[in-house]
Amino acid sequence: MNTVLYVVVPCYNEEEVLGETSARLKEKLRSLMSVGKISEESKIMFVNDGSKDKTWQLISKYHEEDKIFSGVNLSRNRGHQTALLAGLNTAAKYADAIVSMDADLQDDINAVDEMLDKFEGGAEIVYGVRKSRKKDSFFKRFTAEAFYKIIDKMGGEVVFNHADYRLMSKRAVEALSEYKEANLFLRGLVPMIGFKSDIVFYERAKRFAGESKYPLKKMLALAYEGITSLTVTPIKMVRRTGVAFTILGILGLAATITLFCLGIAAQGWITIAAVVTMAGVLEFSLGIIGDYVGKTYMEAKHRPRYFIAEVLNDAETRDE
Ligand code: UDP
Ligand code: MG
Repeated sequence: MNTVLYVVVPCYNEEEVLGETSARLKEKLRSLMSVGKISEESKIMFVNDGSKDKTWQLISKYHEEDKIFSGVNLSRNRGHQTALLAGLNTAAKYADAIVSMDADLQDDINAVDEMLDKFEGGAEIVYGVRKSRKKDSFFKRFTAEAFYKIIDKMGGEVVFNHADYRLMSKRAVEALSEYKEANLFLRGLVPMIGFKSDIVFYERAKRFAGESKYPLKKMLALAYEGITSLTVTPIKMVRRTGVAFTILGILGLAATITLFCLGIAAQGWITIAAVVTMAGVLEFSLGIIGDYVGKTYMEAKHRPRYFIAEVLNDAETRDE
């Protein structure tokens, strides 16, 4: 089998890492080509997600120097998940298999060999899963693992400790593109596609240059996006809390009336405290429901998710 492999790499302000990343990926692909594991037409596809630095100039330069590099330039910054989707959809027009990975090469690129073996063995989705989180700070490890557990408890299907390092067949990417949602959480969507899937374990390294483009705020936003795009459990939790508080309220009322009938003065401050608590719970609940309503509103607009300003690739698309 002579697989045309595309490695899709979303890039946002990555001028500091691109030199090293492009060199390492090129070496990897060339060595896979030399042993006949992938076709000579395989490529590295950088997606520029509206960077403010020289990222796109660098990508264009690499493409000029060597056609193993191709580039997709988005019309503006749309965020990691959307940039990745734009890259996957574009790559699927040329490739048999597409691997997605981050620009900082934190994910061990040597895991691609095993991903390709599994692909040749018939797997259409191969998830890269981190062996351990030894290199993460305690905080990142704790929050990340708690996230996977919470989402699992709420009924979302995600692969534990898998981020967006994975191989997908052309067919799997085409299936993914059928999901039209704007509220995008790829690692929750991909398992829904089905097809034969497999897992490859790898060690994740530290970012070798540049800052993380995922500060805590973006990380929490992605986690919340993930939970709300995959499940409606938070709304159900709101309802259950509502039921619990209603029962409590009725009991409280009964107790107050009983005390009143016995001639013992009701303790007004307890009632006030209870009302305040309930108001808080109500507001919080309304907030969660409001989020879903807001998301429904955004989805109902069917806005386009991204625009591609330019594609640099010397290959012909292979769409039948
Ligand atoms: N990224 C992107 N658009 C953004 C933010 C990030 O395309 O708006 C890319 C970034 O260039 C990198 C990947 O998403 O290739 C993951 O980001 P990063 O490595 O900073 O995240 P971390 O590994 O710290 O979670
Ligand atoms: Mg990173």
